Amino acid sequence: MSQAQSRSPESSPANPSPRRRVLIVGGVAGGASCAARLRRLDESVEIVVFDRGPYVAFANCGLPYFVGDVIADERKLLVASPELFRDRFNIAVHTDSDVTGLDPVARTITVHDMVSGEQRTEHYDALVLSPGAAPIRPPLPGIDRPGIFAVRNIPDSRRIRAWIEERQAKTAVVVGGGFIGLEMVENLIHRGLSVTLLEKLPQVMPPLDPEMAEPLMEHLRAKGVDLRLGDGLARVDDGPDGRLQVVAESGTVLPADLVILALGVRPETALARQAGLTIGERGGIVVDRQMRTSDPHIWAVGDVVEVADVLLGQITVLPLAGPANREGRVAAEAIAGRPTQFRGIQATAVVGILGMTVASTGASEKGLRRAGVTNFERVYLHPGHHAGYYPGARPIHLKLLFSVPDGRILGAQAVGMEGVEKRIDVIATTIQFRGTVHDLAEAELCYAPQFGAAKDPVNLAGMLAQNVLNGDMPVASWSELDGTDALIVDVREPEEFALGHIASAVNLPLSQMRVRFRELPETRDILVYCGVGQRAYFATRFLLHQGYRARNLSGGFTTYKAIHPDVAAT
Ligand code: FAD
Repeated sequence: MSQAQSRSPESSPANPSPRRRVLIVGGVAGGASCAARLRRLDESVEIVVFDRGPYVAFANCGLPYFVGDVIADERKLLVASPELFRDRFNIAVHTDSDVTGLDPVARTITVHDMVSGEQRTEHYDALVLSPGAAPIRPPLPGIDRPGIFAVRNIPDSRRIRAWIEERQAKTAVVVGGGFIGLEMVENLIHRGLSVTLLEKLPQVMPPLDPEMAEPLMEHLRAKGVDLRLGDGLARVDDGPDGRLQVVAESGTVLPADLVILALGVRPETALARQAGLTIGERGGIVVDRQMRTSDPHIWAVGDVVEVADVLLGQITVLPLAGPANREGRVAAEAIAGRPTQFRGIQATAVVGILGMTVASTGASEKGLRRAGVTNFERVYLHPGHHAGYYPGARPIHLKLLFSVPDGRILGAQAVGMEGVEKRIDVIATTIQFRGTVHDLAEAELCYAPQFGAAKDPVNLAGMLAQNVLNGDMPVASWSELDGTDALIVDVREPEEFALGHIASAVNLPLSQMRVRFRELPETRDILVYCGVGQRAYFATRFLLHQGYRARNLSGGFTTYKAIHPDVAAT
């Protein structure tokens, strides 16, 4: 192994280049976007990117679809090549180059050339760390057996594809029901495998509140996914016929031809720790709003950093491509001397799974409670994704969280088959402008019958929330039902009531309310519900006018069923 010292690939140590040198570790989302932006801002600076992998600027988000053969041509994953960086931007890219050392005093990094085996030292004036996050691989017995994969890069995906093809794989166990786990479930099913999803929590998609995850879990089961919730991975044994046997913490044995580990990721902080950079409580590198670390010559971006949550003001880590790209851009601007600052994150995310879309932005109800926030309300609604009279309207299950009394939007979650991400994107944008539910009610959005409704689901969510804030529609949550003394009134028609209802409810249809309302006791609190909340809203308004203490059970029976999926005709 030879040792070399380099100040610039274009200059000799005896005649160092006067150009400012910016080195970037990691050439994918954050690193590549930083490099390209910096070149657009400054032609004089020398930019060199190092990545230990064989590619830079590849589409990690496309990897599950490459495994699933939805993206059949591997080259489609390569967004930009080292040649493109060189020719178009005059950026030097070194792949197969592992950065193994960082000396912040000498301002050098140590680069191990994984092809030649050589090691060299590179000097920097500014350094950007964008090494990403590594998949979590818990030290469990059998975890390193062949056939157990994580999905981080193109070689990982290639290995999974080859394993499926060579072994004629028929069954898979995916461990972890977050974004990547779900995308892998979809793509393995797409390849014809039977899939078991093992998730330690009682729900999939941990960012969602449990009742919002329920339609997704129902959908997964309906699509044939063997969903094992509340059960973690204990070990992996060799099984008969060269197969694997996944043993869950419950003792359940799940035979599999392959196992995908999707247990989350951990920031790659080895270099930062070596250099003594400040690491935060969430395990990421601490940066300021210009993405500068505790060392004034080192910036860090992407999955490796801790970021501020704009809604709760908390510090967190958020391994998503959007923030990584924006942070890379901010770091480039800072290095170029501009005052640009990163605004922080609000955790806007979407995943598609076997035809269903799940999206969220901002805080969840459980996140608010964990943070000790109490002055908030929530509404549930289930409108069609476009006008009901136009064929093909599909419901969107939407939950909106907002603060009381100012109506500032705190978060939203939506699940459905069509039009889900569009609504969450509108709400996400409104949150960025510190908008309120009144802004949602007033939002002027696209409408023609095949796209939306004259009152779009976003408008409806805002209007419902306004009704709650101004007292027009006092609401009760499904979580208040246990042990309540209130009279529960189902205002749907008898035939709907017969198909299933809350066990203690009485049926007084809205259509008969005006003649029969005196049957209801004036002395008791009344909780009103219907299918999705609209008829109950009308009934609640009527009962309030008659002097009753009525509240609408938000989201109606649809939301109730989501949290009590076993409810049947009672
Ligand atoms: P990365 O893009 O991971 O790049 C880090 C690079 O640094 C890697 O190539 C690594 O090899 C290299 N590196 C690390 N250490 C060193 C070293 N010491 N020396 C040299 N090189 C090093 N996000 C979304 O928003 N939407 C999605 O749909 C989505 N889907 C995803 C699907 C998968 C399978 C995966 C793995 C991620 C997905 N993500 C998605 C997350 C998103 O890809 C990441 O948040 C984003 O890529 C992070 O960017 P980054 O620059 O921090 O790290």
